[in-house]
Amino acid sequence: MKKFNVGIVGATGMVGQRFMTILENHPWFDVKVLAASARSAGKTYTEAVGDKWAMTTPIPASMADMIVMDSDADIDRIGELVDFVFCAVNLDKDATKALEERYAKAEIPVVSNNSANRHTPDVPMVVPELNADHIKIIESQKKRLGTKRGFIAVKSNCSLQSYVPALFPLDKEFGVEDVLVCTYQAISGAGKTFDTWPEMVDNVIPFIGGEEEKSEKEPLKLWGKIEGDVIVDAEKPHFTAQCLRVPASDGHMAAVFVRFANKPSKEQILNVWKEFKGRAQELDLPSAPKQFLNYFVEDNFPQTKLHRNLENGMAISVGRLREDTQYDYKFVCLSHNTLRGAAGGAVLLAELLCAEGYMD
Ligand code: NAP
Repeated sequence: MKKFNVGIVGATGMVGQRFMTILENHPWFDVKVLAASARSAGKTYTEAVGDKWAMTTPIPASMADMIVMDSDADIDRIGELVDFVFCAVNLDKDATKALEERYAKAEIPVVSNNSANRHTPDVPMVVPELNADHIKIIESQKKRLGTKRGFIAVKSNCSLQSYVPALFPLDKEFGVEDVLVCTYQAISGAGKTFDTWPEMVDNVIPFIGGEEEKSEKEPLKLWGKIEGDVIVDAEKPHFTAQCLRVPASDGHMAAVFVRFANKPSKEQILNVWKEFKGRAQELDLPSAPKQFLNYFVEDNFPQTKLHRNLENGMAISVGRLREDTQYDYKFVCLSHNTLRGAAGGAVLLAELLCAEGYMD
């Protein structure tokens, strides 16, 4: 694979920092641009990020002295330096949509972590193991935008990156009808650490703004189908969700209850998880976990602290599968919210788009 020059828009933020650490030694991608708000532009990255650097490893040496560019004012210059950008900015929905479209219309593909375009019907929202075929809608999007190579592709919300992967292959075999899910979400999902959010020490907060709606609605786009120039959401499975903020630094856990059209045996479920491989594994993408779904037999596994980093934080951990009195089965699952759920998921999506020729 040839090397691609890439930019990170929102580089000083929590997800932006994750992008930098993941991309430091990436085999296909070279980071050429770091961009943030006008407040950071013109400073070295180290000056701009200041004490907001929240990773456990130092700022990558190759990026520490790069001059931060202005995400908005410098778009044309950024277009001369990169093949595509990753985008993770803290702006309101309309401003984020406008910014991402400006990049696409400047012929700079955007791989986005933001939620603003997740329900734009010709923007693919992709988990590369599950619905890689949705990237075909990009041709329709380019027609709408009037672009040759510019487009927007997004990843889905971090909350659902644990339970949707576990349910998706089961639906193909047994038909998933109803799902009740409770998520236990880490504080990095709010861009916070225990230093910046001390109220979260020894605490649980039973509300995450907008999260339950995303957790119920976004899966239906992942399950959706391309019809003409749009992706039409699926009507099933039916989801109901409660999302709680818990005092973990990284890692979103989910407790899932599921009802099937054709109830499988426990062995059949375990076999589907064990054998499942998606397009990311078929293409052997650099960030793809070798084993996507990992079942643990121990009663007290998976644990947030022990298992969130499985396969560089890109694998999903599952456990405690058992029959339920009201649904057919219940189980728990875990994914790393800023790796699989944010920057890592976006890097994997970018790898898929490169491998399928969309970044040429
Ligand atoms: P964050 O830590 O608050 O960082 C926000 C970034 O946006 C910073 O680089 C900031 O630059 C930049 N920014 C702010 N105003 C801007 C403007 N007017 N123009 C251009 N850039 C601007 O936020 P985050 O947690 O990284 O989240 C970023 C996005 O990813 C959000 O849409 C969030 O919903 C999404 N997301 C986050 C997670 C997670 O786990 N944290 C997971 C999935 C998705 P300055 O430093 O210059 O202000």
